[in-house]
Amino acid sequence: MNLKDYIRVIPDFPEAGISFKDITTLLQNGAGYKKAIDELKELVAHLKIDVIAGPEARGFVVGAPLAYALGVGFIPIRKKGKLPYETIEAGYNLEYGNDSLAMHTDAIQKGQNVLIADDLLATGGTISTSVNLVRQLGGNIVGAAFLIELTHLNGREKLTDVEVLTLLSYE
Ligand code: IMP
Repeated sequence: MNLKDYIRVIPDFPEAGISFKDITTLLQNGAGYKKAIDELKELVAHLKIDVIAGPEARGFVVGAPLAYALGVGFIPIRKKGKLPYETIEAGYNLEYGNDSLAMHTDAIQKGQNVLIADDLLATGGTISTSVNLVRQLGGNIVGAAFLIELTHLNGREKLTDVEVLTLLSYE
């Protein structure tokens, strides 16, 4: 099976006009999930990665197994108010709604090579905010890796100085 065959597309969720790419059908399938992480590992093989950072919540289900496969650490980028230690925060707009992301101030050592990982690149708001937080902490962004890119939302335009790597594209 191709990776796309594991992904379910739901029209008009969470609101009219949005075609939602549901990755739960990929995640619940052992072969599909493994294939996705194995393919992502190949996709980023040319990068020098010290650590992976991923935004809550689906960035965890992509970033953490990829970090394990590469033998590097994983840093959760969380919604505001969830992290217990000292944090930095930044607000952002989503394809639908807005939110704030936070990282621990000691999450990254200066100069560390950081790969950002998430399930899906839509408008790029989540990832450009994640990139800004990592850079504020002194991290060097080596790339941003996704399972899915929604090309019509032009998220790449917000990430001009970042190498964007995606396994699957949808118009
Ligand atoms: P962006 O900030 O607009 O790029 O939105 C990306 C974030 O929104 C990702 O973390 C996704 O989890 C979520 N998202 C947006 N659209 C979809 C979708 O169609 N399927 C699944 N997640 C989505």
